[in-house]
Amino acid sequence: MTQQADPYAVLFEPVKIGPLTARNRFYQVPHCTGAGRNYPSVSAHIRATNAEGGWAVVSTEQCDIHYSADMRAQVRLWNEGDIPFHARMTDLVHQHGALAACQLVHSGSYSPNHIGREIPISPINTPVQGPYPVHARAMDKRDIANFRQWHRRAARLAKQAGFDIVYVYAGHDITLLLEFLSPRINTRSDEYGGSVENRVRLFRECIEEVRDEVGETCAVAVRLAVDELLGDKGITSAGDGREIVEILAELPDLWDVNVSDWNNDSMTSRFAEEGYQEPYVDFVKSVTSKPVVGVGRFTSPDTMVSQIKRGVLDFIGAARPAIADPFLPNKIEQNRPEDIRECIGCNICVSGNNLYTPMRCTQNPTRSEEWRRGWHPERIPVKDTDDHVLVVGAGPAGLEAARAFGQRGYDVMLAEATRDLGGRVTRETTFPGLSTWARVRDWRVGQIEKMPNVVVYRESQMNEATVLETACNLVVVATGATWRRDGFGRTDRAVVPGADRSNVYTPDDIMNGAEPEGPVIVFDDDHYYMGSVISERLRALGREVVLVTPEAVVSAFTTYTLEQSRVQARLMEAGIRIVASHSLVSIGADATELRCTYTDRVSSIACTSVVLVTALTANDGLYTDLVQTAVADDDAGPRRIVRIGDCYAPGTIAAAVWSGHRCARAPFAEITDEVPFRLERVELADG
Ligand code: ADP
Ligand code: SF4
Repeated sequence: MTQQADPYAVLFEPVKIGPLTARNRFYQVPHCTGAGRNYPSVSAHIRATNAEGGWAVVSTEQCDIHYSADMRAQVRLWNEGDIPFHARMTDLVHQHGALAACQLVHSGSYSPNHIGREIPISPINTPVQGPYPVHARAMDKRDIANFRQWHRRAARLAKQAGFDIVYVYAGHDITLLLEFLSPRINTRSDEYGGSVENRVRLFRECIEEVRDEVGETCAVAVRLAVDELLGDKGITSAGDGREIVEILAELPDLWDVNVSDWNNDSMTSRFAEEGYQEPYVDFVKSVTSKPVVGVGRFTSPDTMVSQIKRGVLDFIGAARPAIADPFLPNKIEQNRPEDIRECIGCNICVSGNNLYTPMRCTQNPTRSEEWRRGWHPERIPVKDTDDHVLVVGAGPAGLEAARAFGQRGYDVMLAEATRDLGGRVTRETTFPGLSTWARVRDWRVGQIEKMPNVVVYRESQMNEATVLETACNLVVVATGATWRRDGFGRTDRAVVPGADRSNVYTPDDIMNGAEPEGPVIVFDDDHYYMGSVISERLRALGREVVLVTPEAVVSAFTTYTLEQSRVQARLMEAGIRIVASHSLVSIGADATELRCTYTDRVSSIACTSVVLVTALTANDGLYTDLVQTAVADDDAGPRRIVRIGDCYAPGTIAAAVWSGHRCARAPFAEITDEVPFRLERVELADG
């Protein structure tokens, strides 16, 4: 019998990066974690887990080099005092056989410097980016010389901290070096501005000086945005982006290439497919002999192999796929691609960073909990009781709880009222742009199907009596939540008169197939995705749609997931009218009264139907019944009841998955008197 060639072997070839050799082609590119300098051990153990999972290179997030650009929460290398924070990460990464990379940054006019109050610097005099009343000043020759010294010093410190690869970073428009490269921003008339050769000068000097500092044992990488997706107004891969790579082609040891700005680089699955950056970066390998890494939310091994074999990339770069599954490389190497917990492209992880909190991940509940709670993404303690577990409800919370209890070795019954598994995930993925989210269900169902100790019962609507008929003594209620019908929401926290009319619908009605007559008002007091996807669906049915929101923009929370401008543009392009800064006063038969949230002025809009996207109510009736009457049972022994996910409190899918996971590790850890995770505190300096 002939041996089948390993289809993924090419992904495990070692690749030279300057003086170093990466053990395979999996490269965790620099990305923020929200942990930064405030939770250094959380950050170090995120990176360590990636190294353990098989990534050949594991990078930091952007690392501030000087207080004149202080990004508040990001890691830094300002002086020797910062070295131990990084040394913990590099030690752990090395223990797992990976190379550690450090991405140096000066954020130029992106940093308003609210902490240190230093005036920001930039190639030109300019307001800083963002709505801050701060201007950056143009750098003179002395500033440029100083910046080069700071950059050199940070490279030296990075080497001392144990990094193998040091980055010179111009990968997003949040960096001083990209500001210098940009024809749009850099209008200087000296030797650092004007022609592309002049604009490249500082970038080149930094690359040469980092090499000079780190010597022969470390590699020098660059991260460059080869396209800003601004057409002629910005760097393009057909224009300046290509020229920059041509000018510097052989200078660095590795090219890490992407598109700017961050919301282009980290596009969600609602707006971009896997591999979407290929058309912008595919020229790079034809211009340099150095290895090239690129990203594109790669989770399919076949796509990865194709990228390598077609000569697009040398390394499969990943941020989000490594967050969702730190063990992705190992799973491919062990020929278990079906076990990959694929990123769904929702950017909940990014929202963690934008909220300055350790990131969370919809698919991977253990992310950021590796050190804090000791949660490993692949291993979980074996069961320590003889409980028989009944999980009621197979939404994201119930599926994750059943899977993780099953992984621990418990006997699990999973009872779901409907024929379909997945709960809200299955229902919500029918909306435009959300189909990739089904991976939350599919991965868990795939894992459960392999577990003989987890038995799934579909079309099994459970009530108190049927729960008691089972022999299970640990009952996990994961019965989800229902959208409110009365208009009670975030802004006014009051029911809306007229919400009980027959022309009023909820998201559940829409997911159940209702198609309200237009003109229809979608009142979005939820502010995440639901209001916008319902509007899109109704518009696609040909309805006249008005989206009313009390916020100043639609889907305000999606600002944190980098989607807001795209969501709003998509709705506007679809012809949906947006009425911002208004809430609902009352709903009538053919008109709805609105209130301006600033002036309280009341106006009226003619409409035939209204969809209320306001708030949810936990479906906790079964839980309440059970705790009242079912705590003891003669045959099965005392029963313990716990509720999880949206049944405990409605929230994101990420929160439901996390809740299910926590339940399986510690079923009754809802709120404890003592802090249930390790703390990291700022050290008190001498007073
Ligand atoms: P979560 O996000 O917390 O997982 P979902 O609403 O997605 O919540 O999922 C809840 C699931 O529970 C749904 O699939 C629903 O059909 C199911 N369910 C609700 N009540 C019962 C019940 N009494 N018995 C069995 N399944 C139920
Ligand atoms: Fe992917 Fe969403 Fe997890 Fe981020 S939070 S890694 S986008 S699944």
